Amino acid sequence: MSFCIAVDGPAGAGKSTIAKLVAKKMNLIYVDTGAMYRAMAYYLISQNTDLANGQEISEKCQGADIRIVYENGEQVVILNGENVNPYLRTEEVGNAASVSSANGSVRAKLVELQQRMAEDTDLIMDGRDIGTCVLPKAQLKIYLTASSRVRALRRYHELVAKGQACNLEEIEADIIDRDYRDMNREISPLKQAADAVLLDTSDMTIEEVVGKIISLAEERK
Ligand code: C5P
Repeated sequence: MSFCIAVDGPAGAGKSTIAKLVAKKMNLIYVDTGAMYRAMAYYLISQNTDLANGQEISEKCQGADIRIVYENGEQVVILNGENVNPYLRTEEVGNAASVSSANGSVRAKLVELQQRMAEDTDLIMDGRDIGTCVLPKAQLKIYLTASSRVRALRRYHELVAKGQACNLEEIEADIIDRDYRDMNREISPLKQAADAVLLDTSDMTIEEVVGKIISLAEERK
């Protein structure tokens, strides 16, 4: 059986940064499931889908063939044959993903892909429902969180470093909206699994969080 670490938590908690570093140190494959939901949202936007219409999302999502490949250790999302990584990390796509990810047909399609990847590969997978739904038998489950202010500040610094104009209050408001949608949807809402270890990273360094996860993982190997 493969060895799996599930990492869940709200937007901006540091899941992908942390999971990538743990993957490198423990020689695991890193699976970013948010990127799959983003690729689906990107596809739905490109098809002019009305995101308020669940039936339309359920029908149109069937036209998206999403595959994951790895190039130089980096996850690449292939949507209908095209590498869409460069288009996924915008606020527009992130916000659309948090709407379309509430749809049952979208989730069924992507959860199946995620579960197949975990069948025979040692990995660390991050998302919102990994410990509760996708990998209920993961050997280690982490629920990573931080205050909305700290998460907004991290995002703000990231955007400023890229030279993009942004407003901290707006970023925090978006984060709070996104958390609300992710935590209150009917299917697989974001919540801490009963057997997950809670890590609040508001006052922890990246190294501290990575070290903590690795020591927990070593105990369970
Ligand atoms: O983590 P990231 O911000 O890339 O995820 C984008 C959106 O995809 C989230 O706001 C959430 O609605 C959705 N998502 C999900 N389940 C996952 C991963 C992401 O619903 N396992």
